[in-house]
Amino acid sequence: MIGTRLMKVADYVTGTSVADIGSDHAYLPIYLVEQQRIERAVAGEVVEGPFQAAVRNVRSEGLADKIQVRLGSGLEVIDSGEVDCITICGMGGPLISDILLTGRAKLASRPRLILQSNIHSEAVRQALQTLGYKIIAEDILKEKKHIYEIIVAEEGVMSLTEAEMKFGPLLLQEQSETFNEKWQKEYRHLTAILETIKELPAQHKKKEEIERQLQLYQEVIHFAD
Ligand code: SAM
Repeated sequence: MIGTRLMKVADYVTGTSVADIGSDHAYLPIYLVEQQRIERAVAGEVVEGPFQAAVRNVRSEGLADKIQVRLGSGLEVIDSGEVDCITICGMGGPLISDILLTGRAKLASRPRLILQSNIHSEAVRQALQTLGYKIIAEDILKEKKHIYEIIVAEEGVMSLTEAEMKFGPLLLQEQSETFNEKWQKEYRHLTAILETIKELPAQHKKKEEIERQLQLYQEVIHFAD
């Protein structure tokens, strides 16, 4: 059974076909097909071990005719126009961004993108903006003490401010409890770093950047007491 995080990702899937990139055990495509949310899927995996695990799981569920497991990096495992949705989950924002930018030719048919980053989601938003995608939904959730963000995007134009890029345009509007928890923790972390470097002349540039970031936090986030 998949956890809350991937179940939330599944909720954003539309259409009849999905490519799950970095699929690991192929849990998400198996769930989507078993729940009859989609008709077919591609599970892409770049590492041999997880690829073999995905192949085994798909076979043991009797779904080999509906889920193709393919070994390869990023979007190279799919053809342009092959799927309605692409999911990339459980990775850092910079890696997701790199997969999208490197594979941009495979996005020509404008599949819906459902991206679940663990850290540095601003890199994902930046890539989406560059690629001509617009964020249509965002989610933030906590599972086993970890906080995850989900970004859903479709073809469109957006022009995000620095704060929207960092915190997420829709998450920023909503400012949920989990959102607050994440950024309050990060704010405390940055404040602690600032405290340790503030008297060190060699760290002057870093100190200025942290102060600028903290200022941004204070301007846009309504911290709970
Ligand atoms: N998507 C699953 C999830 O969210 O639970 C698995 C996440 S796991 C932490 C990340 C997976 O992405 C690993 O299995 C890793 O081998 C794979 N991966 C990393 N870079 C990749 C790339 N460029 N192309 C395809 N898979 C990649």
